[in-house]
Amino acid sequence: MYDHRELAKAMDLFHFEEHSPGMVFWHPLGWRVFRAIENFMRQVYEAYGFEEVRSPIALSRTLWEKSGHWEKFGENIFVVGSLDNADSSHVSPDYALKPMSCPAHIAIYEASRRSYREMPIRLMEFGMVHRNEPSGTLSGCMRLRQFVQDDAHIFCLEADIENEIRNFLNMVSEVYKAFGYFDFTIKISLRPEKRLGDDALWDKAEAALIDACVALGYAYKLLPGEGAFYSPKIEVSLEDHLGRSWQCGTIQVDFNLPQIFDLSFVNNDGDFERPVILHQAVLGSIERWIGIVLENHGGSLPLWLAPVQIAVASISDKSVEWAQTVVSKLRRRGVRTELINRDATISKKIRELSKRKIPLIAVVGEMEAANGTVNLRRFGVSTQEEIALAQLEEEFSHSLSMIC
Ligand SMILES: [Zn+2]
Repeated sequence: MYDHRELAKAMDLFHFEEHSPGMVFWHPLGWRVFRAIENFMRQVYEAYGFEEVRSPIALSRTLWEKSGHWEKFGENIFVVGSLDNADSSHVSPDYALKPMSCPAHIAIYEASRRSYREMPIRLMEFGMVHRNEPSGTLSGCMRLRQFVQDDAHIFCLEADIENEIRNFLNMVSEVYKAFGYFDFTIKISLRPEKRLGDDALWDKAEAALIDACVALGYAYKLLPGEGAFYSPKIEVSLEDHLGRSWQCGTIQVDFNLPQIFDLSFVNNDGDFERPVILHQAVLGSIERWIGIVLENHGGSLPLWLAPVQIAVASISDKSVEWAQTVVSKLRRRGVRTELINRDATISKKIRELSKRKIPLIAVVGEMEAANGTVNLRRFGVSTQEEIALAQLEEEFSHSLSMIC
């Protein structure tokens, strides 16, 4: 059984500080893992027709009051205030650190006059959000006060909803498989007793969620009464190696915020029509996702995620120059490469590198330098092979392109 906090310490990935509870200090190696996930997700979102945006993390209190988050999220919102000139002990809460990106993406939608021709408009952001969780509930990366989520909003016509939900389920399946997760469970939360909007809209939204699951052959569990007051939703949960269930992906059909913000687009007849908003996240919190993945893999991350993908060690000073050439060639290809240049015997270097679970170790001596090759060892495999540098570069671009 692994604890992601201990693995992070052993692997030098990140740490926590008492002065910033619930917030992660990413070290260089940990940030590499974070960026590998971000880059992978960026490519997936682009493939599914999303445009990446970036919005401020602090937004006016009045906006949060309008969206209803101020009231709903209340004590979980971090306020940002300015000091009162007359009374410096008084802080007026003018802004809130965003707990989610919805109002910011609505502002981007509202910045232009929209036509049915450009719908659906799919916006996504690696949104840094803050939620003031009680200190007793904080737990490593699994529950934080500051985290980044893949926060996406689709502005679409009612007729698009089912197709967008199918896309979401396909994305979930594709992304989870890339991390080695082939099973996930789907729950559909239906209308609660207290709700906004008329029943005809709820009928449509719930039917769209259910029909998309049926069309793709996914089993699902219905949770009557569990939906948000403004929308029904799908929640995707993943089971970890201890059998714990983590809610990660979600998609919600929202008729409420478009109404509150009076959103519109010009339809085929030249009239104004209201769009629907779908809120979605595939991974949810990236920090929590990393925690789950670290514990599941016991820190031995697959090649495409490993903070150091290959370590290059020279046998003696005579082969250092070739080792440096290998490192710079691989780095130019975007391979996360480490040069091992310590004064130690090669067997000691290899022992240390194996302990760090680095997927590939390339040993180079005078013979490899003369041949333009490296002697390659793969983690968990006892054999070695001599392989030309060009072939190694080719292997990397092939194996990484299969994921990213
Ligand atoms: Zn949202």
